[in-house]
Amino acid sequence: MTALHRQMDSPLSRSSEEGTIAYFSMEIAIRPDMPTYSGGLGVLAGDTLRSAADLALNLVAVTLLHRKGYYSQHLDEEGNQTESAQPWHPEAKLAVEEPKVTIAIEGRIVTIRALRFDVHGVTGHTIPIYMLDTYLEENHPEDRALTDHLYGGDGDYRLRQEAILGLGGPRILNALGYAPAVFHMNEGHAALLTVAALEQRLAGRSLDTATEDDFKAVRDRCVFTTHTPVPAGHDRFSREQAERILGIERTNLVERTGGFHDGLLNMTYVALRFSRFVNGVAMQHGKVSRAMFPEYQISAITNGIHAATWTSDEMKEMFDQHMPRWRQDNVTLRYAIDIDGEQIHQAHMAAKRRLIQAVEERGGTRLDENVFTIGFARRAATYKRADLFFHDPERLVRLAREHGGLQVLYSGKAHPADQPGKAKIKRVIELARELESDTLKIVYLENYNWELGALLTQGVDLWLNTPKRPYEASGTSGMKAAINGVPSLSILDGWWIEGWIEGVTGWAIEDREDEAGEAASLYEHLEQVILPTYYKDHDRWHRIMRSAIALNGSFFNTQRMIEQYLLNAYYPEQLVDITDESLEPALSH
Ligand SMILES: *Cc1c(COP(=O)(O)O)cnc(C)c1O
Repeated sequence: MTALHRQMDSPLSRSSEEGTIAYFSMEIAIRPDMPTYSGGLGVLAGDTLRSAADLALNLVAVTLLHRKGYYSQHLDEEGNQTESAQPWHPEAKLAVEEPKVTIAIEGRIVTIRALRFDVHGVTGHTIPIYMLDTYLEENHPEDRALTDHLYGGDGDYRLRQEAILGLGGPRILNALGYAPAVFHMNEGHAALLTVAALEQRLAGRSLDTATEDDFKAVRDRCVFTTHTPVPAGHDRFSREQAERILGIERTNLVERTGGFHDGLLNMTYVALRFSRFVNGVAMQHGKVSRAMFPEYQISAITNGIHAATWTSDEMKEMFDQHMPRWRQDNVTLRYAIDIDGEQIHQAHMAAKRRLIQAVEERGGTRLDENVFTIGFARRAATYKRADLFFHDPERLVRLAREHGGLQVLYSGKAHPADQPGKAKIKRVIELARELESDTLKIVYLENYNWELGALLTQGVDLWLNTPKRPYEASGTSGMKAAINGVPSLSILDGWWIEGWIEGVTGWAIEDREDEAGEAASLYEHLEQVILPTYYKDHDRWHRIMRSAIALNGSFFNTQRMIEQYLLNAYYPEQLVDITDESLEPALSH
C-alpha cells in the first residue's frame, strides 16, 4: 500500500470527506480565564477539542455561554464554604454570530444566538466552539438568564438549559450552514438533541407520526458518552416538568421511545435509546455501565488529557529536546524512557518551586522544597473521600515524624447544594490545623480551578486518590500528574486500573473491606516504600517518574482517545463492540 493510499484510508482524512462531527457538552473548559466549566467533565471536553484541533478534524462544538460562570469558592477560618458568581465579559473574547434561532420553552418563544471561540491546533487548524446565549432584548427577562449559571438554579432551570443546548444547538448549527454527520453527546445533558434531529427529519410533521425508520435515521447519527457510574448521578425530571417545559408532544415522544425510567424523564435513557454507539470512559466504567443498563451495548474508551495543556514549561522544554514531535504525535512520549533521571528531577523541581511560591502567596504557609509533598485536589464529592488520609491521625503524625517529613496540599470545591461535601472540606481543614507540626504541614487551597490544578499536578511529588469504588468513572487529574513525572497512590478505580504498574508508575491502595483497612494500606505504602524511596533512593525515584511519563503520558492523552473515537464511534468501518471481554481479567492483574 502506498503512503498516499494509507492516508486516504485513515480516519483522519475520512473526517474531511464524511462530514462534520458536532460535539455537544454542557460545560467546556476553554481557557483558564473563562469560567465555563465546573470540573472533570468540562476539562475533558476542552482537552478533547484541543486534541481535535491538533488532529485537524472536521468538528464543531456546542455549549452554553454561562455568563455568570460556575462559582468561586471562599473558605473561612473554620472551613465553611461560601460561593460567589463569576461574571465575565464574553463579548470581549468572542465573536458574535449573525444567525438567531427560536425554540418554545414552557410555551414561550426563546431566541438564541451563538458566540464563537476558535480553538487553534498545533498545526494551525481551528475548531469553532459555539456558545449559546439567550441574553437578548427580545427575550422575556427570565429567559435572558437561562444561559447565566452552569449547574445553577433548580430542576426547572436545568431542564430549560438542556432544552437550549439540545433543541437550540442543532438549529443554530443549521443556521450557520452545518449539516452534521455525527452528533456526539458528552454526557446526558445534551440528550434532547436527538429530539431536535428527529424534528428536523420530520420537517414539520408531528412527532406522533415518527416511525421506527425515523428513529433509526437519528440513531445512525448519534454517539453518546456516559460519565456517571451511579444511577442518582443521571439527570432526571418529572413528567409534569417535562410536559410544562418541553411540551406534551415531545414528552409523549420521549415516553414512547423509552426515555422515562421509574416514572421520570431520564436523559441517559433518551441518549441510550437514540445512539448507535455508546461508551463509558474507562474499561471498568464500561463494565459498570453495562451492569447498570443491561439492555444496551456499551463500549469503553478511556479518557485522556491534552498533553501540551497540562505539562509544565520545564517538562515541555525537555520533551521538545528529546521527542521534538510529541505535540503532534503524543505516542512519542513513550521515548521519555531514555531521558536521564537527573534531568527529569531538575524539571520537576522547577515546577515544585513554582507551586511552593503560589502556596505562600495564597495562604502564607512556607513549604520546603526538599520535603515530600502529596497533592489531593478534586471536587469535594463525598465518594472522593478527602478524609480517608486522616483515618488514623496518630499514625499519620508518626509516619511524618519518622520518615523525613510530609507536606500535603488539598483543594476542591463542593457543589453549593452539597452539604455533605461541604462538611468534608470543613473536616479536612479542622484536622489540618489539629495535626500541624514541624514535620507535618497540611494546607487547604481555596478555589480549585484550572490554574491550581495545573500547579498542583505539576509540582507535587505524589498524587493521592482515594475514591470509594466503583464511583470514579475515570478521573483525569492523575493523568496530568503522570505526564509531569508525578506517580499516583490510588484506589484501583477508574483509569488507575489501567495505568497502574506497582512500583513502576505508582502504587495501588489495596481493596480492603472497610475504610480502616484501606487507610492502613495507604499508610503502609507510604511507610514501607514511598517515603524511603523518595528520601533514600533517588535513582529509583527518578526511574518511577520517568515511567509515569513514558508509560502513562504516552497513552492517557486525548489524542489517543479521540483517535479511538474516530475509529470506533465517528467513522467506523463497521459497528463493532470494542469492549473485548477478554481484556477484563488482565485489568485485575
Ligand atoms: C483535571 C481537573 C478535574 C478532574 O480531575 P479528577 O481527577 O477527575 O477529579 C477537575 N477540576 C479541575 C480544575 C481539573 O483541572
